Amino acid sequence: APEYIRAIQPYQPGKPISELVRELGLDEHNVIKLASNENPLGTSPLAREAMINALNQISLYPDGSGFELKAAISQRYSVNTDQIILGNGSNDILDLAARVFLKPGAAAVYSQHAFAVYPLVVQTIGANGISVPARDYGHDLAAMLDAVTPETRIVFIASPNNPTGTLSEVDDLLRFLERVSRDVLVVLDEAYNEYLPEANKRNSISWLKRFPNLIITRTFSKAYGLAGVRVGFGLAHTDVADLMNRVRQPFNVNSIGLAGALAALQDTEFVERSYALNRTGMLHLTDGLRQLGIEYIPSFGNFLSFRVEGDVANTKKVYQSLLQQGVIVRPLGIYEMPQHLRVTIGLESENQKFLKSLERAIGELA
Ligand code: PMP
Repeated sequence: APEYIRAIQPYQPGKPISELVRELGLDEHNVIKLASNENPLGTSPLAREAMINALNQISLYPDGSGFELKAAISQRYSVNTDQIILGNGSNDILDLAARVFLKPGAAAVYSQHAFAVYPLVVQTIGANGISVPARDYGHDLAAMLDAVTPETRIVFIASPNNPTGTLSEVDDLLRFLERVSRDVLVVLDEAYNEYLPEANKRNSISWLKRFPNLIITRTFSKAYGLAGVRVGFGLAHTDVADLMNRVRQPFNVNSIGLAGALAALQDTEFVERSYALNRTGMLHLTDGLRQLGIEYIPSFGNFLSFRVEGDVANTKKVYQSLLQQGVIVRPLGIYEMPQHLRVTIGLESENQKFLKSLERAIGELA
């Protein structure tokens, strides 16, 4: 394998509950996983039913064109079906963007503390990932624009970003899009879009008309509660979508996922409930952290990253103590935030348990 493949650090997903339970000898019923930004409400009941029905057809190949799901997305977001790329999760769309627009020696720009899959898909191509220092944990779009060189073919922008939860301002995004070369594909990753409060919602999809080099990525993994069946999509100019659709695997989205996503898209009530629960939970957690005197990064996602006082050893102790108490969160060493931990907003009882366990973990440090 080429050197650039050997140099790749594997993505480390959160450990499954079953494994931790075994490792730590915990009681399975007392363990909560708040480590992967999953939907604490589970899955839309309509989507669940649609997926169960789809089981009757799993001896058949899925619809490789995703006809019905694309039609529904096209209607919902007022785009043409030929502007849509369906993916095996939105990670697949990020990977496709890299495979279509990068080559060895090309460059891609992203922010420090940005989603870990960007460097991964860039390195897979043998292209150079340029990490631009963050500003207050968020993307410094002006510095990212300055980092663009003639070799740059992609800029990744996550808004809200994971794991920082930071949101780029509309004015800053538009200024960036207006100034960056049209030869550069701008990937605007909106995996957490559904969690934005009304006041922060932006009509980014309407920007596609002005910027043929823009692709917006969305996912069914978060507010739609379908992380396990892997469905995401990209919206872009027809020419961009066409290239990406040529390169994708013919059946990259499976039939269960297609059925689930189609039904989930119609279940607006479930998405609203997920949003509302997240808002309440976010307030609960930020209040609780404040009371414990713990510094956190204000978040627009369904998660919150907080900083443990002292040194990295303290963060590790708190992480371990939380684990021992049956609360799984995400350490952020790979994000160059070794003193932070990220917690997903859960059900009220889970948030409560997290705060109580955190209080105890912090107490143990003294
Ligand atoms: N973008 C961001 C910013 C994310 O946090 C995630 C999920 N961790 C994804 C994309 C990918 O999610 P999926 O592949 O499940 O759609």
